[in-house]
Amino acid sequence: YDDRDGFIWMDGKLVPWRDANVHILSHAMHYASSVFEGERCYDGKIFKGHEHSERLLESGRLLDMPIPYTADQIDAAKAEVLAANKLSNAYVRAVAWRGAGEDMGVAARRNPVRLAVAAWEWGAYYGDAKMQGAKLDIAKWRRPSPDTIPTAAKAAGLYMICTMSKHAAEEKGCSDALFYDYRGYVAEATGANVFFVKDGEVHTPIPDAILNGITRQTVIAMLRDKGLVVHERHILPEELDSFSECWLTGTAAEVTPVGQIGDYHFQVGAITRDVAESYEALVRA
Ligand code: PMP
Repeated sequence: YDDRDGFIWMDGKLVPWRDANVHILSHAMHYASSVFEGERCYDGKIFKGHEHSERLLESGRLLDMPIPYTADQIDAAKAEVLAANKLSNAYVRAVAWRGAGEDMGVAARRNPVRLAVAAWEWGAYYGDAKMQGAKLDIAKWRRPSPDTIPTAAKAAGLYMICTMSKHAAEEKGCSDALFYDYRGYVAEATGANVFFVKDGEVHTPIPDAILNGITRQTVIAMLRDKGLVVHERHILPEELDSFSECWLTGTAAEVTPVGQIGDYHFQVGAITRDVAESYEALVRA
């Protein structure tokens, strides 16, 4: 990803892709003072782009590292990057972090909070697994409690166990891992939220220890518009056996059917297919 043509927006201006570097003594490298967004641009328009800019700012506030831009300025930076790279269907990554500066200890008030935005082409997140039903491993790590780490932030530190769990899953031939949370409830995948179907009704975890995904919120509203009942509640692992369908939602994952979680099997059923198709239509509407 580092040695290619193109432009990345950094701290207010476009820089050539290869020159978009940071110093090794950046605070973020050492202490995970970094928050980010993943967005998708469809036919020239970022789906929920402004909501993502707002969430980035909120993640910065939650980590006590205010990002020195407004949501409108971040929206403009994303548009600039897409235009400069001549992209109309792309993944967009904004990242804000504490840079190098006066402080190299834990406290970093005098180190600037920096912002960069990159964009590139990126197809289906789960590749071929997408419509056949992804196979998920169960992570050995758990999503932490909101009094351990700010779980509502899309913060780099929350992804350390995601990388570890996704690597372990891939080594077992799975596409991803499903986390339980610190209480033992079903939580989320390493980069997506999870939904289940039982008797024609939809069940999904309450986002009290997980990211309340923008796709998750979009899909819940869509299901309710269709007249379906959606229960946001705590889900126990032993209930996995009772669900007939399962899917993941996320900006990168979009709506990805799940065929298997550990030893539990699910059909790619009518509701899953309908939600996946409706989401695809909505993002391009
Ligand atoms: N949970 C985690 C851990 C994620 O990384 C993501 C992707 N941002 C999601 C859920 C889904 O969030 P969204 O729908 O906003 O992309």
